[in-house]
Amino acid sequence: MLEQSNELSAWDRDHFFHPSTHMGTHARGESPARVMAGGEGVTVWDNTGKKSIDAFAGLYCVNVGYGRQKIADAIASQAKNLAYYHAYVGHGTEASIRLAKMIIDRAPKGMSRVYFGLSGSDANETNIKLIWYYNNVLGRPEKKKIISRWRGYHGSGVMTGSLTGLELFHNAFDLPRAPIMHTEAPYYFRRADRSMSEEQFSLYCADKLEEMILAEGPDTVAAFIGEPILGTGGIVPPPAGYWQKIQAVLNKYDVLLVADEVVTGFGRLGTMFGSDHYGIKPDLITIAKGLTSAYAPLSGVIVSDKVWQVLVKGSDKLGSLGHGWTYSAHPICVAAGVANLELIDEMDLVRNAGETGAYLRTELAKAVGGHKHVGEVRGDGMLAAVEFVKDRDDRVFFDPTLKVGPQIATALAASGVIGRAMPQGDILGFAPPLCLTREEADTIVAKTADA
Ligand code: PLP
Repeated sequence: MLEQSNELSAWDRDHFFHPSTHMGTHARGESPARVMAGGEGVTVWDNTGKKSIDAFAGLYCVNVGYGRQKIADAIASQAKNLAYYHAYVGHGTEASIRLAKMIIDRAPKGMSRVYFGLSGSDANETNIKLIWYYNNVLGRPEKKKIISRWRGYHGSGVMTGSLTGLELFHNAFDLPRAPIMHTEAPYYFRRADRSMSEEQFSLYCADKLEEMILAEGPDTVAAFIGEPILGTGGIVPPPAGYWQKIQAVLNKYDVLLVADEVVTGFGRLGTMFGSDHYGIKPDLITIAKGLTSAYAPLSGVIVSDKVWQVLVKGSDKLGSLGHGWTYSAHPICVAAGVANLELIDEMDLVRNAGETGAYLRTELAKAVGGHKHVGEVRGDGMLAAVEFVKDRDDRVFFDPTLKVGPQIATALAASGVIGRAMPQGDILGFAPPLCLTREEADTIVAKTADA
């Protein structure tokens, strides 16, 4: 067994090009590697048998927890009956049609159609194309710029990596590309002047957005994209009044709003969608992760009736939509999606996300919130973060090269709890499966305090 795992680890270092990994240290065997082997509920184990609570649900995606028979059965049954058929030229499967209907039934008001992709990145890629197409159909070929936010995360393709507002995803990749630009991050703890209230900081963010739209020319700005709550940028809830003030600016200049709900869709904030939670009225919504709880790769763009009507006009004028992937609405993935959404209801996970998530944050704040190097404990629903600072009174941050956040995440992992060192800043993130119990939350909190 040992020999076999040594061999596996050699193959891993020599042949497997891992995403989001330090290539040098991994290839040289200097950084920890782990071969995952199984999971049940919120627990995962590796090929040495070491068990951990996965307090980040993979990459905030395994929302129903691991090992759910119902989804495995749906996948197996679809694979046996019809593993693949495309969705071009009006084709579908019962599962793809059912899933689209289930999504629209759960979506915020005014939503009309679902376009299926495979990842959050490709869904946002679809969004960009639909936004450009929309304005071309409306005879506004200049209205193409898309405003994102610093610290937003929207994927790592060429255009979606440009939408992302994190340095790591731009550096040495020649990103961001035009016509994408970034405005102020709604990050009260880091960005607000100390004299500002949250409401004042929200107004400041909205003013910055308006300044950018005016400087660029409203006739050239097509859309604004944002996650309801900043995710990978640090798990940062919006300051009070933020979305209302931002939407007032967007409405004034006829700028579409894309809510990227890849993390927040399907229950993570204790509501089915984050848009409902914060009173956001999007024109397009990006979904992925929680749509199948990552049992199979599936994403989507939920299109509002307002946008859909224009797209229909477009195809009446231009012919069939020149956009599609071989695997759009892949039957196995949509079958997983149907079973997953049913399970979310059956297990009452949206309610649990709100209730147990609030418990987790309260207990975390009690356990570590008073520590002199903890600047803030924050989050919403089943999302929580602890931000580490050198000096909490003067908000002095650690030198990033000290890797304080990653070191704490590593110590926590050694004790059997997986959190995530968020990529920019010393921030330990938690996004457990939505089925987390209070006892499991207590374990996460106790081990975090020790770490
Ligand atoms: N949008 C958001 C808000 C995300 O958090 C992510 C991934 O974490 C993406 C888009 C990209 O999704 P994917 O990694 O599936 O391409």
